[in-house]
Amino acid sequence: MNPGNRTASYHILPDAGGAVRVQFFCELSDALICVTAPIRAETPEQALAIAWETEGKTKFNTCKKCGRFVSDVMYNADVHECVACAPWENYPLYCHRCGKRIVEIVRHCPQCGVLLRYEGS
Ligand SMILES: [Zn+2]
Ligand SMILES: [Zn+2]
Repeated sequence: MNPGNRTASYHILPDAGGAVRVQFFCELSDALICVTAPIRAETPEQALAIAWETEGKTKFNTCKKCGRFVSDVMYNADVHECVACAPWENYPLYCHRCGKRIVEIVRHCPQCGVLLRYEGS
């Protein structure tokens, strides 16, 4: 990985006519955050750089501690760190009933539907 030219995790998809679309993922939850419009470039590296500059980086927050690019829901804006470095105190990381990993702020477990226990509520 080139530290001078970092982007979030990505996947390059071929599109019509030799163009590509780039998907960017949250580096904490692996959630798909955005897909760019088709981009034409000489190389995949150039397409990636264009995608990141024009669309990708506006959708992400950078953790000042670990440097990961994360989505809004995985970012603790109070301290400018990702939730792995600075967890919300009342945010459950796993469902207390089925153990599913909770990757977004939701009231109910997406797998078993139980009302999640937020500490202090
Ligand atoms: Zn972090
Ligand atoms: Zn559950």
